[in-house]
Amino acid sequence: MKMICIGRNYAQHARELGNAVPSEPIFFLKPSTALLPPGSAFRIPEWSKEIHYEMELVYRIGKRCSAIRADEAAHHLDGVTVGLDLTARDVQEQLKSSGAPWEKAKAFDGSAVVSDRSLPVTDLDAELSFGLERNGKIVQQGRSTEMLFPVPLILEHVSRFITLEPGDLVFTGTPAGVGPLSPGDLLEGTLEGRSMFQLRVEG
Ligand code: ZN
Repeated sequence: MKMICIGRNYAQHARELGNAVPSEPIFFLKPSTALLPPGSAFRIPEWSKEIHYEMELVYRIGKRCSAIRADEAAHHLDGVTVGLDLTARDVQEQLKSSGAPWEKAKAFDGSAVVSDRSLPVTDLDAELSFGLERNGKIVQQGRSTEMLFPVPLILEHVSRFITLEPGDLVFTGTPAGVGPLSPGDLLEGTLEGRSMFQLRVEG
């Protein structure tokens, strides 16, 4: 199982980090070892001073995809849920400024938090709303219709280069409002108004 993550897929989030809005989807990977075991707390690693939460819609691949067209995407998905693309922002900024790949900042152990519940994928044009609360306060809210590259275009683009297999997860980018985690934080992710996961942060 691998995770494909889309960067800068919401215009306001690209701007909040001072990045240009991309002309095609930007993607990177997380290995299966990045997945935090369900129900575990997240421990802030000692090598970063700034782990950011990024709340995202996450789609699960149900059927192998290689070079598919956007209009075939729905047949290749078997669920949608929400998750966190945890990011060592301080490390990422150093890597970006030297032009190096981002993996150290994005693919570390525990950097992917995914709800163990999901909704079926029916109509990819239907709007899904999702959000993240930190210690009871809403910090991120997003809608699938705000993506610069909607899921069908993401699958068309990514599957030109990388075959997606059943069980792979596609993180679709985060809306504005990202910020740092502190020890003791309690995060709660929602999808369509329903609680999907809770995450305790340890220092
Ligand atoms: Zn992200």
